Amino acid sequence: MIGDAPRLAELFRGARTPVVFTGAGVSTESGIPDFRSPGGIWDRFDPNEFTYANFIGSLEGRRKYWELGRVTYPVIRAARPNAAHVALAELHRRGRLDCCITQNIDNLHQAAGLPPEKVIELHGNATRARCLACGAAYTRDEVHVWLEAGDGVPACPACGGIVKPATVLFGEAMPAREMAEAERRARQADLFVVVGSSLVVYPAAYIPVHAKHAGATLVIVNLAPTPLDERADLVIRGQAGHVMGAVVAGMERCS
Ligand code: NAD
Repeated sequence: MIGDAPRLAELFRGARTPVVFTGAGVSTESGIPDFRSPGGIWDRFDPNEFTYANFIGSLEGRRKYWELGRVTYPVIRAARPNAAHVALAELHRRGRLDCCITQNIDNLHQAAGLPPEKVIELHGNATRARCLACGAAYTRDEVHVWLEAGDGVPACPACGGIVKPATVLFGEAMPAREMAEAERRARQADLFVVVGSSLVVYPAAYIPVHAKHAGATLVIVNLAPTPLDERADLVIRGQAGHVMGAVVAGMERCS
């Protein structure tokens, strides 16, 4: 309920190390569908086909992946930060955000003005790609041009190796540095706010549990119920943009 936004504003004002944890729901208001809401990506595609093993293991797996990527990347590229991204950047500007741990790959927190070093990306970033053989870095825009030119399975122009987006695919190992840093920041947080995540994708969904165990006040802002709701100190059912916008406005009224 938006009515609880003033309470969350109070929590942000009183916190020393507030950490926010975001999922796909923080970006739906920017026009990027999430995975699990009705009409989300998994209503249209079978997640079992887009695994790391399939991508690495076969030309056909990569062809299917890039077929999907050719459709989804332009949506991500065209998206602009919404009121929730802007509110989080504003919280940081006011010294009220230690960092943002995100499961998202859309780069919208950075686009809203959060410094890149304050965004811990658990699942990578869709705007970059890399050759798995020689390590050459490419922008996803470059790869998109190759796809649009009819190259169904882009190979590295330098060495012919497999080009992979800088995102974590299903079944792929999590980035060790980011996971360790996210766990460390979660354990240090005195306020931990989840925004727009179903909290069913592991191991990322353990991070709020670490924060709660270490003593943080846990707040969940999400449209649908999550498995952690009953352990949260405050649950706000509402649109991320409305709620987080109201939180920043509430802090203005208090200051
Ligand atoms: P999810 O799809 O499992 O859950 C999204 C949650 O957000 C749902 O519970 C839904 O009720 C809620 N939600 C949707 N719109 C909302 C809004 N406007 N305000 C508040 N809540 C809203 O997403 P997840 O938990 O992030 O996990 C799935 C995986 O999806 C993540 O690993 C992420 O990498 C990936 N993903 C990312 C993007 C992106 O980068 N924008 C998009 C789709 C999927």
